Amino acid sequence: MMTPEDLAFDRHHIWHPYTSMTSPLPCYPVVGADGNELRLDDGRRLVDGMSSWWAAIHGYNHPAINQAIADQLHAMSHVMFGGITHPQAVALCRRLVAITPAPLECVFLADSGSVAVEVAIKMALQYWQARGEDRRRLLTVRQGYHGDTCGAMSVCDPQTSMHRLFQGYLPEHEFVAAPACRFDEQWREEDIAELAGRLASEGPLPAAVILEPIVQGAGGMRFYHPTYLHRVRELCDRHHLLLIADEIATGFGRTGKLFACEHAGISPDIMCLGKALTGGYLTLSATLTTRDVADTISNGEAGCFMHGPTFMGNPLACAAANASLELLAQGHWPAQVAAIEQRLRAGLLRLREHPRVADVRVLGAIGVVETRNAVNMEALQRFFVEQGVWIRPFGRLIYLMPPYSIQPEQLALLIAALAASLDRPGHFVA
Ligand code: PMP
Repeated sequence: MMTPEDLAFDRHHIWHPYTSMTSPLPCYPVVGADGNELRLDDGRRLVDGMSSWWAAIHGYNHPAINQAIADQLHAMSHVMFGGITHPQAVALCRRLVAITPAPLECVFLADSGSVAVEVAIKMALQYWQARGEDRRRLLTVRQGYHGDTCGAMSVCDPQTSMHRLFQGYLPEHEFVAAPACRFDEQWREEDIAELAGRLASEGPLPAAVILEPIVQGAGGMRFYHPTYLHRVRELCDRHHLLLIADEIATGFGRTGKLFACEHAGISPDIMCLGKALTGGYLTLSATLTTRDVADTISNGEAGCFMHGPTFMGNPLACAAANASLELLAQGHWPAQVAAIEQRLRAGLLRLREHPRVADVRVLGAIGVVETRNAVNMEALQRFFVEQGVWIRPFGRLIYLMPPYSIQPEQLALLIAALAASLDRPGHFVA
């Protein structure tokens, strides 16, 4: 049980994500999470529509992942990775090499998604340094999101993200328009024209293209055409650029493929993984590269890749990841994700007709309702909790991405709450 004093302390002393310390939005006290539900300290249960931000794909308190972590805890919770290796890290990297697209075969383990992106950027820079070419810029699309650390922020959308606040401090990279052709539309070749034109121009070549494959997540929950990604791969090959795919949100089945790159049948030179890697249990990320990238970096001036976090390869996190990947390997997820997609389509697409709705889109286990006006987060969140669901909207986006284990009646409750929320004017900013 959390006391009123606990909650007052929280409000006064603890930062929450993107939250003011002087007028914070309310926080709901959660004291347990089981299966597909969160438990509030007053005993109420909320059906989880968020998977704790793309992470908890198998639901909470899963016996197999619990057991794996408990077993590892008794063997060794952490040990440095410098000069030491351990069975969980080897098992995990072996699995990652086996399930990611073929040329990716060298794995760098780090602490979080943002750090995986920092690692990817540093790898691209060291790669060109080692080849004696002066390439310092990255090329990316607008409306992207890659994390909150400085390198990652510098490739997030320059308008909607934090660039303005940190102007003059962040490295400057190049942006082209976000892909406009939607996932399920007829492909339009002009969608790739700006990127192709830029690369054909005289300007200095960038070190790499970085993007989120197929789904632009926090930058707008947009689903773009697989041919765009295919063309990006072709252009990177033609102009000798590295392609960095940030699969931190999309990886591990969320879009209906194990990795979103598979929608386009491409493989990147560098791939970032995180979030659902541990089934949402512990923070861990992986940056995978080809042998060529790894060897070139290693033969460069430094003789090594210049990164090595304290908690690299944390055994508890690796044990959770191995258990989560084992659950995926059992092979139930494609049918689960397909069933969720079907139910999201049936339940959400009809909301396109609603006067407060600008657009509805569904891909895999992601359902997005884009509203005409920005949401009143506090009022909407309160409403959802009253309805017995956990849905966290932002901007003009109300979206569902439940655990793959969500049951039909639980998903029905999430969809019904989302639909009902649209009928209250107080839920939106005029
Ligand atoms: N890349 C993408 C595509 C993400 O969605 C996120 C997290 N929302 C990150 C990177 C950063 O991951 P983390 O929050 O674990 O640092």
